[in-house]
Amino acid sequence: MPETLIKVDLADSPYNNDMIHNRWHPDIPMVTWVKRGADFIIETYDWTGGFIKDNDSADDVRDIDLSIVHFLSGPIGVEGAEPGDLLVVDLLDVGAKPDSLWGFNGFFSKKNGGGFLTDHFPLAQKSIWDISGLYTHSRHVPGVKFAGLIHPGLIGCLPDQKLLDIWNKREIDFIATEPERVPPLANPPFGPTAHAGRAKDAVKAKVAAEGARTVPPREHGGNCDIKDLSRGSKIYFPVYVKGGGLSMGDLHFSQGDGEITFCGAIEMAGWLHIRVDVIKDGMAKYGVKNPMFKPSPITPNYNNYLIFEGISVDEWGKQHYLDVHVAYRQACLNAIEYMTKFGYSRAQAYAILGTAPVQGHISGVVDIPNACATLWLPTGIFEFDIMPNADGPVQHIKGGVDIPMSPDK
Ligand code: ZN
Repeated sequence: MPETLIKVDLADSPYNNDMIHNRWHPDIPMVTWVKRGADFIIETYDWTGGFIKDNDSADDVRDIDLSIVHFLSGPIGVEGAEPGDLLVVDLLDVGAKPDSLWGFNGFFSKKNGGGFLTDHFPLAQKSIWDISGLYTHSRHVPGVKFAGLIHPGLIGCLPDQKLLDIWNKREIDFIATEPERVPPLANPPFGPTAHAGRAKDAVKAKVAAEGARTVPPREHGGNCDIKDLSRGSKIYFPVYVKGGGLSMGDLHFSQGDGEITFCGAIEMAGWLHIRVDVIKDGMAKYGVKNPMFKPSPITPNYNNYLIFEGISVDEWGKQHYLDVHVAYRQACLNAIEYMTKFGYSRAQAYAILGTAPVQGHISGVVDIPNACATLWLPTGIFEFDIMPNADGPVQHIKGGVDIPMSPDK
């Protein structure tokens, strides 16, 4: 049995666990050191550290203080890893914690986090997804069941001080361009809820004052939310500090491309079995600025899709120039509208796009003025035929069940 190097107790606060942290900073002490070639198990909290509960109310999604996230396990030092190297991580396996076989998907209130379609879904909502071996289904979203493409939403190495300073400057400068925006343009360092792992005293205060928030993906990887970074993947991470300082968390049982619902994919607590190695001077040898990876050899076998197109003309009729963000939003809205014809509420349809193995593709970015993005909805996840035909759609989903919503206070 590989050794479990980091354990989490889901009944206890992650703030009481010194092998957990929620900021990126070079001075967060390594919690353990491993040799090149070692394989081991790391347990993780869900990204909110257990704040979101398995119940039928979205009050927790509405009320969460988002400055607490993400709770990450690590950092792990790898002997021999030096700045400029590549850290090679094999995701040998990933799974849900056996004492927590469920996950959540939510939409944040526009006033507290928002999401990709926040103008259309401005209030907090939450669906619970039960995990049965390979499969998941939800009491709040009937008519769908699918196999998980399990992955860590967040994994990466610690930045060095120089890179951290670059992150903080560019994001704080960016916030200053529209400081009153709701939701905000970015999240600056925030001391009161920082968890600096094993850092003590002055170091702890420094991490709290300047530690980068974990929300965005950055040069080191971090919160990339790539569904294909699944079991069996091999990832190549840039190394900035001695030992690398690998941390991970935010496990997803399944997610659609874009993680458009933002209060996650199907968020869960779990474990990863990983192996680490090093390519010396790999950043320069291979010209690496951001991580690269080889995907899993095992993916759920959904080969039939209904594909929705979207162009960069927004829902209010405004023309945008080759804007892929606008185009993907239109593709998502088109898919939601379509699913409502089979009896789903708009919220249920949105949750399906956030959780199921939906693919998003950039199809064209040169045909001025319209970008084209496509959303690939796997038809095999539905327990009924969702393809169009001459007789028109059948209302397979009969009302009565919907995703709980909590109005703003
Ligand atoms: Zn997540």
